[in-house]
Amino acid sequence: MRVEECRGSCGLMDLHVHTSASDGEPTADGVLEHARAKGLSIVAITDHYDPFAAEYGAQSGNVFDHRALEKQLQWRDGLPEDDSLAVFIGIERGPISVRLEMPSAQPDFVIASVHYITSRIPVERGRLFDERYWRAYMDEALTVVADPQVDVVGHIAGYLPMGGMLLPGSTFEERREMEREIDARFFSSQWYEDIFRAALASKTAIELHCATRTPRIDMVEMGIKMGVRFSVGSDAHNVESVGNVAWAYDLIQSQGAGRQALWHPPARADADLRSAGTRR
Ligand SMILES: [Zn+2]
Ligand SMILES: [Zn+2]
Repeated sequence: MRVEECRGSCGLMDLHVHTSASDGEPTADGVLEHARAKGLSIVAITDHYDPFAAEYGAQSGNVFDHRALEKQLQWRDGLPEDDSLAVFIGIERGPISVRLEMPSAQPDFVIASVHYITSRIPVERGRLFDERYWRAYMDEALTVVADPQVDVVGHIAGYLPMGGMLLPGSTFEERREMEREIDARFFSSQWYEDIFRAALASKTAIELHCATRTPRIDMVEMGIKMGVRFSVGSDAHNVESVGNVAWAYDLIQSQGAGRQALWHPPARADADLRSAGTRR
């Protein structure tokens, strides 16, 4: 299905899903099966693509490269025509721009997530509320939003890079609680406003990250009023989580915002050129 055909009437999107090509469990075919079962109209596979991560000790490293991306694009282009589900291939990079020079390995869009900060600020285990560190994070996020390579900024207030500060043994929910506290202490509404202004200026979407339910509701409300476009992502790493996007859609609806508040990848002009053997 062409994306422009579904404007206004089309159903659910999930624009952030991982497969076994990076650190997810599902196969790409498994993702499609579950996307259909959940009634999605658009699904995007966005595996980790970050050759710089290892250098910064981040977990989401270069588990995916241009050859793997090329393979995934070929898989997608070989799918039978399907009017009910549009499939996009994106990548999730870190805060540093990646080289995407192979014409046969051009993703449909790029998510950038601040999985680590590039300024080397020493951190201590157990010392989570380090103002200097979180200021550096906030600056890094502002830089990423303005980066022309970036279409979507992933989880700006979730899955925060706090690995070096955590004491061992925290649960998923405890880490989310820590993030809410970091958000409340440091991520001022002024910062969100700056993020949103930069997003508007560079036409970057901000992700509604369903796995962590971030950004917080009042800031999403402000973004909607400012005209920011939001991208919906489950950040699924297993098949059951594909299409877990109800939080984002409920939030958009509760704000009285329509689908114009939601970003989707540009329609693939190359889909028409495929028979001519051309890619953009
Ligand atoms: Zn991420
Ligand atoms: Zn992800």
